Amino acid sequence: MKRTSRDIRTANRYGVLRQIIARSPVSRQELAAATGLSLATVATLVGELLDLGMLTEVGFEDSAGGRPRGLVGVNASGGALIGVDIAETYVRVELFDLALRVLARAGEDLRPGGSRPEQVVGHVVSAVGSVVTQAGAGGARVLGVGVSVPGQVDREAGVSEYAPNWDWHDVPLLALLAEHLAYPLYLDNPLRACAVAELWFGAARGRGDAVVVNLGTGVGAGLLLGGALHRGVGNSAGEWGHTTLVLDGRPCHCGNHGCVETYVGAPGIMLNLREASPGSALLHPEDQTATIDALARAVAARDPVATAVLRDTARYLGAAVADLVNLLNPEVVVLSSWVAAALGEPLLHEVREAVARYALKRPLAGTEIVLSPIPTDPVCLGAATFALEGALAPAGPRPADGTAGGTAGGWFVRASSNPLPKR
Ligand SMILES: [Zn+2]
Repeated sequence: MKRTSRDIRTANRYGVLRQIIARSPVSRQELAAATGLSLATVATLVGELLDLGMLTEVGFEDSAGGRPRGLVGVNASGGALIGVDIAETYVRVELFDLALRVLARAGEDLRPGGSRPEQVVGHVVSAVGSVVTQAGAGGARVLGVGVSVPGQVDREAGVSEYAPNWDWHDVPLLALLAEHLAYPLYLDNPLRACAVAELWFGAARGRGDAVVVNLGTGVGAGLLLGGALHRGVGNSAGEWGHTTLVLDGRPCHCGNHGCVETYVGAPGIMLNLREASPGSALLHPEDQTATIDALARAVAARDPVATAVLRDTARYLGAAVADLVNLLNPEVVVLSSWVAAALGEPLLHEVREAVARYALKRPLAGTEIVLSPIPTDPVCLGAATFALEGALAPAGPRPADGTAGGTAGGWFVRASSNPLPKR
């Protein structure tokens, strides 16, 4: 894919704004040092972001002689961003200010059999309506909505190409949402959303190479290489959950057998439990969340079956994470998403031991394995950053007929919906 000068300008704006959000207030000189851009380029970009109402001048740095340096900070009320986390068992929506602090949240559970596209769209639309209402004046300035959906997505077309757990094929998700939501919409998947959330606010901050392991119903790895998100040629990098862990092993939704996901995703862990103890009271058939929560409580109470299942799961996970360590030699591996959050420290402890057993010593020596430190839903946060990135794209051609359509930066509903506030 060709990178145009417009893409580079968007990337530079995004890079500078990211540093300002992380360091606010900050001088242009510090920004130049942090981004590697020239002071002149930083000054131009800061000027553009000030014009867009995304930044404010916040006074001067104390200086021991010399000319005092002006400081800029993010204008938190300069716009709102919405992040949507569509998972197999729930829909969560959070509304953020421009400093990426949560102003409102809403969520709905998806019942088994409730995952048809129009049902999921209904949940998203109602939760988005709820956060906008809750946020009041803050909700009136929504710059965009980032939507994360499991599986492979075509970002440009706004299409969920394949969601194996729901058997979705080529669902035009953003077009369906655009019938109800009049905001610029951006699509990606939870692997990339979690990875960006860790890069901005979590354990991958300031790290060169990091892997964010997403443990939910589905399983995958968000790859941050050289400090940036690695997407692959077709935006499909990180489908580590569908690499083969056991030859001729358990059947997987993807059509293969023995995928990593079938042993360490929530349904896989339920199967590990059922195999260890078929009649276990911890098993809540049809309810992944209840089962994982029950397992976590039983591990804390030192229940022997639960402890054995956790160790078993960690053995599979450790072998698969060791592959990532040997392959990529990352600085940090972050365990993220709701299953990792529920099983917490006991899982981390067992996974560290298992990885040490399966990985080569040299690649592992520099690798830290941690739980995600992000206290809120990292997928919502990451999805909101996709909307922020889209809002930073310089105004370009929009669909001339005023109907829905995609652009390079995102997916806009109508030509008149300028995503940026005027000053
Ligand atoms: Zn698979």
